[in-house]
Amino acid sequence: MKTKEIKVGNVLIGGDNPVSIQTMWDRPITVVDNKLIDKLNDIQAAGCDIIRFAVPKIEDAKIIGDIASKISMPVVADIHFDYKIALKCMDYPISKIRINPGNIGTKWKVEEVLKKAVDKNIPLRIGINGGSLPSDLRENDNLSKALITAAEREMEFLDKHNFDNFLVSLKASNIDDAYRANKAFSKKYNNPIHLGITEAGSLIPAVVKSSIYLYKLLSEGIGDTLRISISDDPLKEIYAANEILSALKLNKRERVELISCPKCGRASFDTHEFNNLIQKKLSTVNKSITVAIMGCTVNGPQEAKHADLGITGSGNSILIFKHGEIIRKVTKDEALEAFTQEIDNFEK
Ligand code: SF4
Repeated sequence: MKTKEIKVGNVLIGGDNPVSIQTMWDRPITVVDNKLIDKLNDIQAAGCDIIRFAVPKIEDAKIIGDIASKISMPVVADIHFDYKIALKCMDYPISKIRINPGNIGTKWKVEEVLKKAVDKNIPLRIGINGGSLPSDLRENDNLSKALITAAEREMEFLDKHNFDNFLVSLKASNIDDAYRANKAFSKKYNNPIHLGITEAGSLIPAVVKSSIYLYKLLSEGIGDTLRISISDDPLKEIYAANEILSALKLNKRERVELISCPKCGRASFDTHEFNNLIQKKLSTVNKSITVAIMGCTVNGPQEAKHADLGITGSGNSILIFKHGEIIRKVTKDEALEAFTQEIDNFEK
């Protein structure tokens, strides 16, 4: 079912809009300094559309508001339990509230939040997680049904108040439950869906689980925005999301396709090290080009002949090649800058 469109700051979610990428800041914030803003700008430059912050205390609302006024990426305030924090956050230029009306308590408190959200035209996300279901649903041995039931309770309340400026997430740490819940939900409702596997783990398990899960849903046209939860730097969540969306041909940005050899006993160029050095740069390049990082001069350029640009080397002699032909020789110290220049100047 085609979902309805909602607006989160300058990002449209749902309808025919491209799948947007989100992440969540991963630590408490006590001061909004240049270092923090630079990091958030890096996250945005890598392809993040929306960033979420937990707001555990009412004093944190001002901090999140301050951040929202200093970056162009829409900011989501994630609130549990205290409706006053949600109200306070909406005094600042935040773009969405993630809340579960069910854990806010008395109905009038939720009504206050809804009233202000309507006044400020701020959408909500109803975030249902398998690990924090209402107590009567926790023992349900059909988790996907329990997730939907929990969402329907929240939606019923919003519906009674004619509030429809919201999207929904139904998350679980198990791929099958999360898949079934989202698939069933999408057949029944047209609210935009935020996809994600919750508590997915460290880099490798999180990316593997998220890839399988997102492939299943996105290839069926289900899902309007997503977060890859990884117990690691939020930038890695964006790198992973970009790769998954690119593999599914759903990435709205033109991106670099990176090919890189794993190295073997013939290696004379450290592809592992160079990958780490150039990853941040590649994430910001909006060009549809293939870049190769190859471990030896003997096989590298030939094996990566189809790449638009490539790099390999031996000792202090680093070779940059274009469609398999060497175009530049530089020293090891010059390699990163030289390769970056070639990527920036490359035109098809
Ligand atoms: S390109 Fe060279 S180093 Fe890399 S896997 Fe092939 S033979 Fe080994």
